[in-house]
Amino acid sequence: MSHAPPAVSRELGADEAVRYYVDSAAVVLGLDPEITQVLDSSYREVSVQVPLRRDDGSLLVVHGYRVQHNGARGPYKGGLRYHPEADIDQVRALASLMTWKTALLDLPFGGAKGGLQVNPAELSPGELQALTRKFATSLSHVLGVYRDIPAPDVNTNAQTMAWFMDAYSARNGYSPAVVTGKPVELGGAPGRDAATGRGLVYVLEAAAARWGWDLEGSAVAVQGFGNVGRSVAQELHDRGCWVIAVSDVAGGLYDPYGLDIPMLIEATADGRSVTGVDEAYARISNDELLRLECNVLVPAALGGVITHENAGDVKAALIVEGANYPVTPSADQIIAERGISVIPDILASGGGVTGSYFEWAQNIQQLQWSEDRFNTELCVRLTRAFNAVAERAESHQESYRLAAYCIALERVARTVRVRGYV
Ligand code: NAD
Repeated sequence: MSHAPPAVSRELGADEAVRYYVDSAAVVLGLDPEITQVLDSSYREVSVQVPLRRDDGSLLVVHGYRVQHNGARGPYKGGLRYHPEADIDQVRALASLMTWKTALLDLPFGGAKGGLQVNPAELSPGELQALTRKFATSLSHVLGVYRDIPAPDVNTNAQTMAWFMDAYSARNGYSPAVVTGKPVELGGAPGRDAATGRGLVYVLEAAAARWGWDLEGSAVAVQGFGNVGRSVAQELHDRGCWVIAVSDVAGGLYDPYGLDIPMLIEATADGRSVTGVDEAYARISNDELLRLECNVLVPAALGGVITHENAGDVKAALIVEGANYPVTPSADQIIAERGISVIPDILASGGGVTGSYFEWAQNIQQLQWSEDRFNTELCVRLTRAFNAVAERAESHQESYRLAAYCIALERVARTVRVRGYV
């Protein structure tokens, strides 16, 4: 590579890691350091206390965050994550990633992210609803249809968005467009639920077409069997790939001849772990999944799972990042040195926010597209973004990650300048 980012000698925290990628691209672009200074930090960081009266009468004080990283290109957009590790550092990093993702996909949004530092598995449905409503109310002053629009992320879903939207609407009037990823009967877009996984597969198909690969018969391992992992596994299974491994927080399943994905999706629809399925598949750990011999590895769970410790053992030919920030910068270097290709998160998992854009635009116009139209438009936009990244990577001899950041940074920097922010 003629433009390799500077070497990293230690594991960086999530926020440091994203800034490392941003700064590397800024240097390659020769960006004005004043603009880089703006792009390197968040516009607004809100931290709230959300006290919850539990079913047993005890009090649980939960901490929540909403970070708005950059809104030069439009209203802030990004998911809400419920997880014990969703601290301000992680949410800040994820908010920045959303700025680059929306810019790369050329959507009229900025980047944001929210988090509640809690383990939702320990809460009853009533407690989850109460917590979500309070969280929505505490953040409502910084949200809005043209200000900041949340969506689902780890451990949140269409139901969470329905509660969130209802609580916001109670104060501000009926506002379906204030969140995306809603249930279809509340203005959700048919196709949005599967959009992140489907979008990843459209990107992979565009890559296969460009590189002359035949996806049919490829062996794929997918970490995470939630919203993203399930639809990636289903879509690839439908295209004749052998999904040889899947996993969730409890562990994984492996069969070199391919798993029965439709059966696994049905068997885990009630929230059960894949490891609880009564099939004679080999049980593997999440770490073993990442080290499997396969053509394509799709990390689609949490960030920071491929580090300098296991990057040397990854045997996939290609990593397609469904999760946000699954590969740390030091692992990224090892992976690149070993000749493994990576399609970065800000491109590969851009289908979710692209689908959210379709949903938001439909809510504003009070109309609904068919799922076929949704998927066709999704495919067009993701294929276009992939080809733009591939062209830049090839012509500038850059990694796909660096090329993706360069395209995104150039767009945001131009808007920051033209709006007169600095
Ligand atoms: P989800 O909550 O629906 O599913 C998460 C999955 O990861 C579950 O199967 C869970 O068991 C598993 N998991 C959790 N902790 C784990 C661990 N320590 N080890 C292994 N597996 C673990 O979440 P999701 O919406 O599918 O999001 C997955 C990833 O994709 C996240 O990084 C998220 O930021 C990213 N992403 C999601 C969307 C979206 O639209 N939902 C869009 C873009 C990116």
